[in-house]
Amino acid sequence: MEERFSRQLILPQVGEEGQRRLNRARVLVLGCGALGSHTAASLLRAGVRRLILVDRDVVELSNLQRVAVYTTADLGRPKAEALGQALKRIDPEAEVEARTAHFGSREAEELVPRVDLVVDGLDNMESRYLVNDACVKHHVPWIYTAVLATYGMTMPILPDKGPCLRCLFPQPPPPGSLPTCATAGILGPVPQALAALQATAAIQILLGSPDLHPGELLHLDLWTRRLERLAVERAADCPTCGRGEFEFLGRSSRTATLCGDAVHVLPRDKTDLDLTVLAERLSQLGEVRLHKGVLLANIEGVSFTVFPDGRAIVKGVRDPDRAQALYDQYIAR
Ligand SMILES: [Zn+2]
Repeated sequence: MEERFSRQLILPQVGEEGQRRLNRARVLVLGCGALGSHTAASLLRAGVRRLILVDRDVVELSNLQRVAVYTTADLGRPKAEALGQALKRIDPEAEVEARTAHFGSREAEELVPRVDLVVDGLDNMESRYLVNDACVKHHVPWIYTAVLATYGMTMPILPDKGPCLRCLFPQPPPPGSLPTCATAGILGPVPQALAALQATAAIQILLGSPDLHPGELLHLDLWTRRLERLAVERAADCPTCGRGEFEFLGRSSRTATLCGDAVHVLPRDKTDLDLTVLAERLSQLGEVRLHKGVLLANIEGVSFTVFPDGRAIVKGVRDPDRAQALYDQYIAR
């Protein structure tokens, strides 16, 4: 066994057989912000070398307050790509598949059955309901983890063995109704602490440890230094894990509300945008620039980040319908 893992191999909870299990496992990391990237880095360092990374956004200056793997040189780069490269520097044997894409039903159906576990670095509840549907449907464990302000919570979801996300929260909150990191802020060490809890639960799931309890919800507030534990029960009438209805997986919305005043919009059809042509067209309407393969435009107080595959993040708008209308008006018809 490699010296790289020597300090972990001597742990009775891991051992050589455990280490082999970690080395064989494949994990899907959804979202490459602070939570996702710290979880991914911890798992890779533990020997989970097969990682699929999905994120639709680029590294912004405001991310550097809390994401250890990103530096000023990464600004403007797609997060999945930047994280993939950082992980390769940690362990050149890492097999990383980095995808700059929206995680929708198609991606969920394709990627979830390919992995042993899904970890949460998402920034919105809509996507989590989709993940929950896909994981329960394909019997793949996942870990729900969310952070805000000075606190966060996490719960391992083991389909068939314990409650799912909808047993805990039966209905998703209306878009824009919850505070987000952009509106309520986030203390830098909070995602790191929750990522540590999430990575530990991930290792326990991959090792089949009896010390991990399905449905154990942990709530940690770093500022008040309070850790609470709550036992979540499986709901008999849960539409997802009880009745096997996967309504979020079937939904094909073109928009998703993101952290703060931002909406992610998908093109009407699969498309390849010529960003140079688009930049020329939009330059008559506002401030436009091309940066690292992404188009950034500011038109009448609304900012657009447009990707070559036609996806766009519309900032300065809360209403998904209005964001979609603006997209159709300026980006692609
Ligand atoms: Zn359920």
